[in-house]
Amino acid sequence: MANMVYNFSAGPAMLPVEVMKQAQAEFRNFNGLGVSVMELSHRSSDFIAVAAAAEQDLRDLMQIPDNYKVLFLQGGGRGQFAAVAMNLLGKNAKADYIVTGQWSKSAIEEAAKLGEIRTLDGFAEAEQGPRPLATSWDLDPSAAYVHYCPNETVDGIEYHFVPKTGNVPLVADMSSTILSRPIDVTQFGLIYAGAQKNIGPSGLAVVIVREDLLDQAVPQTPVIMDYAAMAKADSMVNTPPTYAWYLAGLVFKWLKRQGGLTAMGERNKAKADLLYNYVDASDFYSNNVHPKARSWMNIPFQLRDESLNEAFLKQAKAAGLVALKGHRLVGGMRASVYNAMPIEGVQALVDFMDKFAKQHA
Ligand code: PMP
Repeated sequence: MANMVYNFSAGPAMLPVEVMKQAQAEFRNFNGLGVSVMELSHRSSDFIAVAAAAEQDLRDLMQIPDNYKVLFLQGGGRGQFAAVAMNLLGKNAKADYIVTGQWSKSAIEEAAKLGEIRTLDGFAEAEQGPRPLATSWDLDPSAAYVHYCPNETVDGIEYHFVPKTGNVPLVADMSSTILSRPIDVTQFGLIYAGAQKNIGPSGLAVVIVREDLLDQAVPQTPVIMDYAAMAKADSMVNTPPTYAWYLAGLVFKWLKRQGGLTAMGERNKAKADLLYNYVDASDFYSNNVHPKARSWMNIPFQLRDESLNEAFLKQAKAAGLVALKGHRLVGGMRASVYNAMPIEGVQALVDFMDKFAKQHA
């Protein structure tokens, strides 16, 4: 067998090896039915059982209260940029968006098509060095909601606290942080996430929405984006992305076997500490995010001598460490270390980085 490859892709990202093996084993013969999950009707009792188990396992993992609906939708994270606005701006077309990076900016572009969007700087002032995250804003108490992105995948910035928004519902794009640690769902009006990092294959989006927010859609909302209609039909107004939903369910079961989100949080913190501590101690590499705002999931780092970037990527790949190239808007390197990345992968990366730095000292 080829040596283990550690895939640091920001998304679609690596999935747990155990999950991939299980999917492979039952690929053509699910539950002894002689067909693939992919070939089952979404209305069949076999698939409905898969769908229901996935929802229940997600509810268990995140301790989602009964007054929240869980939806499995299509169109990925960006589809939800539009869907959130369509579903929440129908009665009151005003919302506040906190901006901390590329994805919160992109969310605004969609929402601004439908309402009056105020943008709020997500950072506080700093005398020198990187700016820390702001902890309070001049929020509009009459806004329909406040939107933020708890983990900015491109910039490597993460909130380690939940913003306080008073009575205004808080909406979070958790695409790149969902399931990475425990959270208190009751602090949110709506949580959404594209699946391709911590959940499963791309294209799927998971939405967790408080029931009282289901009556605010603009009338033109397409039915496949309409949370109320989808909630009523168990996310099956039309044919859902059944295979992605099934794989998400396998990932949720895997997470339960790992000890749930408390265990994942501890592991993810240990992984992030390992890499940040190494980068901070080195004068060959750097990370310029404020220490209190550093992401546990996406860790950008720069080589002080950028002319070595190509050689770094090439040698890393040869060592089985792939997809480390930073986002085109940021440059440098980025290691995405979602739930499926074992600490051994991060250790292998640190060992490689150290060897490379010594070679080029
Ligand atoms: N939000 C965040 C935080 C993301 O990281 C991404 C994708 N990387 C998106 C939204 C968009 O997701 P998609 O490509 O599934 O539309």
